[in-house]
Amino acid sequence: MNLDPEKCCDSGCTPCERDPIGSEPRDLCNYIGGEFVCHSNDEWMNVLEPARGLRFGRVPLSGQADVDSAVAAARSAQPAWGSLSHSDRADWLDKIADALEEKYEDIAALESRDTGKPISLARAVDAYRSVANFRFFAGLIRETHGGQRERFEMEDATNIVVPKPVGVGALITPWNLPLYLLSWKVAPAIGMGNTVVCKPSELTPMTADLLMETIHYVGLPAGVVNLVHGDGEGAGGPLTAHPDVDLVSFTGGTETGAKVAAAASPMFKKLSLELGGKNASIVFDDCDLEKTVGGVTRAAFLNQGQVCLCGSRILVQSGVYDEFLTAFVNSVEAMKIGDPSDESTQLGALISADHLAKVEGYVELAKEEGGKILTGGYPGLSKEFEHGNWLAPTVISGVSANARCATEEIFGPVVTIHRFDNEDEAIAIANNTRYGLAGSVWTSDLEKGRRVAENIDTGMVWVNTWLHRDLRVPFGGVKDSGVGREGGRWSLGFFSEPMNICLKHD
Ligand code: NAD
Repeated sequence: MNLDPEKCCDSGCTPCERDPIGSEPRDLCNYIGGEFVCHSNDEWMNVLEPARGLRFGRVPLSGQADVDSAVAAARSAQPAWGSLSHSDRADWLDKIADALEEKYEDIAALESRDTGKPISLARAVDAYRSVANFRFFAGLIRETHGGQRERFEMEDATNIVVPKPVGVGALITPWNLPLYLLSWKVAPAIGMGNTVVCKPSELTPMTADLLMETIHYVGLPAGVVNLVHGDGEGAGGPLTAHPDVDLVSFTGGTETGAKVAAAASPMFKKLSLELGGKNASIVFDDCDLEKTVGGVTRAAFLNQGQVCLCGSRILVQSGVYDEFLTAFVNSVEAMKIGDPSDESTQLGALISADHLAKVEGYVELAKEEGGKILTGGYPGLSKEFEHGNWLAPTVISGVSANARCATEEIFGPVVTIHRFDNEDEAIAIANNTRYGLAGSVWTSDLEKGRRVAENIDTGMVWVNTWLHRDLRVPFGGVKDSGVGREGGRWSLGFFSEPMNICLKHD
């Protein structure tokens, strides 16, 4: 691996300087055809620490030429990679998992710094899942012998379904769970014999670079995984519209998802869209109040409310409303907000100044819509954090379930509380949004929990828990929350083409 600061990359291109990990501020490079390479122009974007507002790196703003090179590298590597046995590819995934595991603390530290999330969360969720994703798909690919190989017998013939690679995949990811979501796509994509071009969020590029270091280190064949840094317009758009890209797996906002679909659909690319959400946490009178308050608080504010699955609308049945509200506000106010590198911190900073302004705009809107702010505001931190993007967890009551702040995705530490009387009303409020990603139901009656869950128009509902993930289950949304499913064998299905071979007997 080239870590010579004098030299940009193994091919020695200039003038890009590939700074070693640890140097600051650090300029990143693209990774194309097994080499770290300069981008084709001299446009850069600063990478800022959300907690302090300080620059600690620069990310290339790549363009069409860089995308063209990356897609060409992926295309030329695909036939050889696709013809490896599924068990050889599973072995590669395990090698990547092992090498990533050695960098567990580096992943957590970089992710915490890049996103502003607490180090404990970056360790338990981001670092953990990034390793687990590679290991999980290695195991599943072995277990299924490379995907769903079904046989259908006829009287005079046998049908054999053979999963084949799709080709070259574009993998585009957001900033909230950077390596967690990128590895969730890379592992099944290459595991099923595709080669890929990754385009991580320009706001959080650091751990994507770490993944390329890792892939380079383990010696994955050149061109199997490529990465182009940049923003949506310069790099994401050209990648999704590229005629030699066969599939697009996109996770991000609903408006961007519509642009991705518009670019990819006319060329009939295989498309998976994991988009925004406005999820309800439904609290019934008969819940275990203490556990519910803890669970609903976590669902509302994990990662500063910046998880697509977060429960940002809390619906509470009348009989327990007052008691729940008091306990919930106490629980929210007890959360420790501040320095993300402090082990005891529970809430960090928001991703960017622009995003903070958007979230604060929704708090102002909520006031105009008749809302009462029960807790929230600026958390009052030391001078070191004065240029960071901070907002204390904010709880709003008194707005209608039809209000914009109660139906549009805010994607920050802001929740609205609504009262309901019966199951039908709770279901109607939960479904009163363009989104349909997730939700949670809190009740001691599991049959009621299942019944209510089935009537909510979403892809996933948890009962008496939230974000309790089994990687084998389907993951995705309905309505404006997305198209298709990933997870477990659904990922293997999306990242492959089932071909049927019909063998006529004598
Ligand atoms: P975003 O849509 O702004 O950006 C996501 C990615 O798309 C980034 O890499 C960005 O550079 C790229 N991009 C932007 N414009 C593009 C274009 N025209 N063509 C191709 N790529 C383009 O989203 P974000 O702000 O990074 O992330 C937050 C959003 O992601 C929220 O709406 C959240 O709900 C959603 N999200 C969904 C899931 C899920 O699984 N459903 C998971 C995490 C986040």
